[in-house]
Amino acid sequence: MFVNAGGGIVKEEGNLSIRVQPDSFFQGGDALRTEETIIEGGNIPSLYQSARVGNFCYLFNNLSPGDYFVDLHFAEIININGPRGMRVFDVFVQEEKVLSKLDIYSIVGANKALQLADVRVSVGEEGTIIIRFEGVNGNPMVSGLCIKSEARLPASQVKQGYVICNNCDAEIEISSAQNKYLRMMATVKYEKKIEELKTQCQLKTDECHEAWMSLTAASEQLEKVRMVLDNKFLQNLYLDQAMEKQAADLRDICSKYEHDKRLWTAVLDNLEKKVMAMKKEHCQLSHEVHQCSDSIPELNKMVFAVQAMVAQCDDLKLKFSEEQAKRKMLYNQIQEAKGNIRVFCRCRPLRKEEISAGYPMVTDFDAAKDGELGIFAGGSTKKIFKFDRVYTPKDDQVDVFADASPMVVSVLDGYNVCIFAYGQTGTGKTFTMEGSEQNRGVNYRTLKQLFKIAEERKDTFTYSISVSVLEVYNEQIRDLLATSPTSKKLEIRQASEGVHHVPGIVEAKVENIKEVWSVLQAGSNARAVGSNNVNEHSSRSHCMLCIMVSTKNLMNGECTKSKLWLVDLAGSERLAKTEVQGDRLKEAQNINRSLSALGDVISALASKSCHIPFRNSKLTHLLQDSLGGDSKTLMFVQISPSEQDLGETLSSLNFATRVRGVELGPARKQIDMGELQKLKMMLDKAKQELRSKEEALKKLEENLHNSEGRAKDKDQLCRSQQEKVSELEGRLASKTQFCRQLEKQLLELADGMKEKEEICFNLQQKVKELENKLKEQEHTKPMTLQHKVKELENILKDRTQQFGHHSAMLQQQVNELENKLTTEGRNQRFQMLQQKIKELEGQLKLQEQQESVLPVCCAEKLGVTPNQTKSRIRVQVLQEMDPQSMRNLNSMNQTINQESVLLKGTDSLHKIRRRRELQSTGTENNILLSTPVLNKRILSTESKNARPIDQSRALARLTRSTKSAATSHRILSSNKLYKDQVQGNKESNKSKIWLR
Ligand code: ADP
Ligand code: MG
Repeated sequence: MFVNAGGGIVKEEGNLSIRVQPDSFFQGGDALRTEETIIEGGNIPSLYQSARVGNFCYLFNNLSPGDYFVDLHFAEIININGPRGMRVFDVFVQEEKVLSKLDIYSIVGANKALQLADVRVSVGEEGTIIIRFEGVNGNPMVSGLCIKSEARLPASQVKQGYVICNNCDAEIEISSAQNKYLRMMATVKYEKKIEELKTQCQLKTDECHEAWMSLTAASEQLEKVRMVLDNKFLQNLYLDQAMEKQAADLRDICSKYEHDKRLWTAVLDNLEKKVMAMKKEHCQLSHEVHQCSDSIPELNKMVFAVQAMVAQCDDLKLKFSEEQAKRKMLYNQIQEAKGNIRVFCRCRPLRKEEISAGYPMVTDFDAAKDGELGIFAGGSTKKIFKFDRVYTPKDDQVDVFADASPMVVSVLDGYNVCIFAYGQTGTGKTFTMEGSEQNRGVNYRTLKQLFKIAEERKDTFTYSISVSVLEVYNEQIRDLLATSPTSKKLEIRQASEGVHHVPGIVEAKVENIKEVWSVLQAGSNARAVGSNNVNEHSSRSHCMLCIMVSTKNLMNGECTKSKLWLVDLAGSERLAKTEVQGDRLKEAQNINRSLSALGDVISALASKSCHIPFRNSKLTHLLQDSLGGDSKTLMFVQISPSEQDLGETLSSLNFATRVRGVELGPARKQIDMGELQKLKMMLDKAKQELRSKEEALKKLEENLHNSEGRAKDKDQLCRSQQEKVSELEGRLASKTQFCRQLEKQLLELADGMKEKEEICFNLQQKVKELENKLKEQEHTKPMTLQHKVKELENILKDRTQQFGHHSAMLQQQVNELENKLTTEGRNQRFQMLQQKIKELEGQLKLQEQQESVLPVCCAEKLGVTPNQTKSRIRVQVLQEMDPQSMRNLNSMNQTINQESVLLKGTDSLHKIRRRRELQSTGTENNILLSTPVLNKRILSTESKNARPIDQSRALARLTRSTKSAATSHRILSSNKLYKDQVQGNKESNKSKIWLR
């Protein structure tokens, strides 16, 4: 049974008797195939192209009990490039280790067949053969398995022995006893020989083992050397790589260094430039500082001067305030001289309708400049009225206000002022007080003037101006600036002496004239609300604009509060004329009452009465603060030029005259002209003085302003100089600090540069060293390595040569020994034979002497009857070994036979016959058992003892195909020899025949 492990059916080329079955009987493992050609695969190379690899075993069942032989075929087809030891495994047959640590590659190399032949196996009743493969290192592998049954010799073949006569080729039958004896003799002989051969063989195997061991040691050493070489090569590689890396790193560092260097030099240049600039600046600054320090005495002088000026200024201030007070007083005196109550009469122009109606003018303005107004009252009588000013219809708002404006100055000086317009409805009260947008009246202009003077005096005074707009109608106060109508009745309260106010009234603070206008508009609009006829209503109520001025003298911190009442009174037309009743009557009565109350108050003030009836009407009650005392009162009496309104005009003029008369008094009127002239002269003088004083005051003020300004300038200059000095000092300090810092930085940078340069220098040196090293290594390393390799190769060569020598020597020794063995054996045998021949010859001589008894004696001695000439001794040899070795053995036998024949070829026929007889025994002596038989015996003994097989022995027992080839070669050569010998024999036979 031949199984192709891991493959299919294989048919041996030219020999159909061997049939290799496909892979079966296995358990486990994997099939593997190769297309590589297998060397020395014999007749079935394709068997080795497949294999079973892995953890597997083969189990053959149903075998009949008996002895079997197992062949195992191996080939390394996987690890074809080695190394050794990659696949090492044990083989167990029937759990008996038959192969220990088999390494196919180390024995035959890759893709080369290796056979384990004829492992004897006994199969019991169970009828199974188990072949197990166990890996020591790597997986086991097998290419083929062959199980052969032991051939049993048929009983008929074992016959009685025959001896072939050398002379006549007759087969001489010998008895079994003789045969036994002969065999015993031969056995004894061959056993001896076997023992000898065994010892020799042992010696040879030992030598072989030693040689093998030395070979393995050498190969191990070689392997080690190879490993070392590989390591060295790897180290070299690593070194090269490291060198390359280091070189790259160095290049990087160098480039970085260069870059840094450039950067630093640029920075240094920049810094140097900066330092230079700073130094320059420093020089400049120090120069400036020096200049400053030089100018300090001058500054001090200036400071002293300034201080002196400040003192002067203070003095001037004092004087100024004194002068101002004086001015105020004088101004007041002038005002008082003018009259605290002044009455200006203004006549409106004739209306178009009046002109068209043809009403004549009853007014005469010829002496208007002197404050006299003539009224033609019935006929040619002209009534003269004297007022402070008389405005003709041609006089515009500007002219009117020009005379009213000094009152405004008094308000800012802290006096209370009251300006009101009195007159019949339609005479221009509202026109004078409010005016139109294009032609603004006293109210607006007064406030404008206030703001103007406040602006002018802002250096010495601060003013806060607020406005309230009220309406008094039917003795009721109405706040015209109130955003929401209040049911609460507004009442007049006295806050302190001389200060009356209406709690809850809106006091709108105004900052500029725009705001004033909007407030006035709001008041005017509010007055119109709630009345069906605007003009009618407005003429029945008093519209009162109150301007409150808070003043603070910045020079002495004096605070004053003053009021300016601007009143548009209700129409003064008499009740009788209107002849109305009900509400209108009540209105008229209230108006009359309030107006007469006003008149009463004014007259009471004039007569300096102890009781002034302010509280008789809301109007006078409200105006209480601004009427009398230091307060100034200006009354515009509005008249109509029309004859139609003559009555009312006269009434108004009379009222106004009454008011004006308060001051002047009727007695003054009676003052004679001389006195009056004197007074006038005095007044003119006083006026002139006042003017000059005012001029001087103005000059003083200007001087003061100038000196103040100068002082301020000087102060500022001094301050700015001092600031500049301190700033320059600060800058100098910071610059010097900065310079120091820069110097420090420079030093640090220089240090850093030095360090960097040192590092760079070191690095460059390192680079050079490394380059030198690299060069040296480039020169030396490969050389040394090559040297080493060469040395190792030489050692290897020497070793292999030594080994070759050694093996050759061993071979020679073996050959010699073999030769010796053969020659010795031959010589011994020859000597023995000669001795025997001599003995026999001696015996023959004796027998010849006896003559008649020769055949009988001979027969008796040999145990053979003379008739049995054709008897032949046949030695049956088991044909289990290969036919060549069999042939070899036969040839050897034959040569030995031939030799023995040749040696005595020249003797007489009788002698030759004798020798043949003796040779027949010699041939028996020369019968060699085939090696398989020996092997079988060894294996059988081993299997019986079941001891583990030594690897070297196992290897020794292996029939290597190379060996087999060698042996076959040898056999071939021996066949040749045999043929030559046969030829020689034939020739000798010819001679023999000739001799015969
Ligand atoms: P009153 O307020 O006294 O009732 P107004 O001020 O309403 O009177 O004046 C009535 C009319 O007379 C208005 O149309 C006004 O323009 C006009 N008028 C009054 N005085 C002058 C004047 N001096 N110049 C021009 N027109 C005037
Ligand atoms: Mg009016």
